[in-house]
Amino acid sequence: MTSASVPASGTTSPDLPAHRVLSGQKALVTGANSGIGMSVALALGAAGADVVVNYVVGDDAANAVVDEIRRSGVRAIAVKADVSSETDVERMFATMLSEFGTIDILVNNAGLQRDAAFHDMTLTEWNTVMNVNLTGQFLCARAAIREFLRRGVVPQVSCAAGKIICMSSVHQQIPWGGHANYASSKGGIKLLMESLAQEVAPQRIRVNGVAPGAIRTPINTSAWDTKEAYARLMTLVPYGRIGEPQDVARAVVWLASDHSDYVVGTTLYVDGGMTLYPGFATGG
Ligand code: NAD
Repeated sequence: MTSASVPASGTTSPDLPAHRVLSGQKALVTGANSGIGMSVALALGAAGADVVVNYVVGDDAANAVVDEIRRSGVRAIAVKADVSSETDVERMFATMLSEFGTIDILVNNAGLQRDAAFHDMTLTEWNTVMNVNLTGQFLCARAAIREFLRRGVVPQVSCAAGKIICMSSVHQQIPWGGHANYASSKGGIKLLMESLAQEVAPQRIRVNGVAPGAIRTPINTSAWDTKEAYARLMTLVPYGRIGEPQDVARAVVWLASDHSDYVVGTTLYVDGGMTLYPGFATGG
């Protein structure tokens, strides 16, 4: 191909300073008053973004996250909304747009577990997990995409017209008995993320996933809060330590920044090697 026939590339990734890579950007993190979401919200603020801290219960915890984000010199507000409710999600985005003007980064993080043996699982347990973990991501992504399409690329802000990061799990890949609702929701997130990424990439919207392994948060306390449980957990983690919320937050900041501008429709596993079939290290 001659240089004359090389298609114009449009904007390309500029050299970015290591800090404040998200300066001037507006981010929304769902489920941001606990665990991974809290750490992500703090990290986005530290990287220069203004942040909406979504939560559904726990006003004090949400306000504490907002206060801490503001210490980075950026704006932050807490918005209470149930991500599984269309009305709540639409209201949350209307609040964000009126307060911050637009959205550049959505982190679809809110999630929960309602574990049960399959034969005992109630329809309520099934529906609660699917509604929050999967439908919640659909509702928030749809609202964000509408704003990205309306606004388009603003080159001084980012190479992309918008970024969505979908919090999945190693259980989008690893089957999980006793947790069929949760694993199904995460498997759904994988193809939601990939289908959406394919659909909106031509509009320069980047959609990617993050799949954490075992991270030390309230969702899985029983898996790490005793010596015995921690030792059992480590048989599943080649890297030999539990993940911390900051491990995930750093990956999210990178995916939200122009440093990852050519990364589209990918899942970044942050799992200490959990998906490497550790049982086969010495056997098989
Ligand atoms: P967590 O319980 O500390 O946080 C979950 C957050 O989601 C909380 O802020 C909670 O209030 C919020 N939430 C729940 N229902 C909501 C709703 N209807 N509307 C809005 N917010 C709601 O757990 P976590 O470990 O930080 O989990 C965060 C995400 O990471 C989840 O999607 C989870 O599936 C995923 N994940 C966690 C791990 C892990 O090991 N901790 C591993 C893989 C994936």
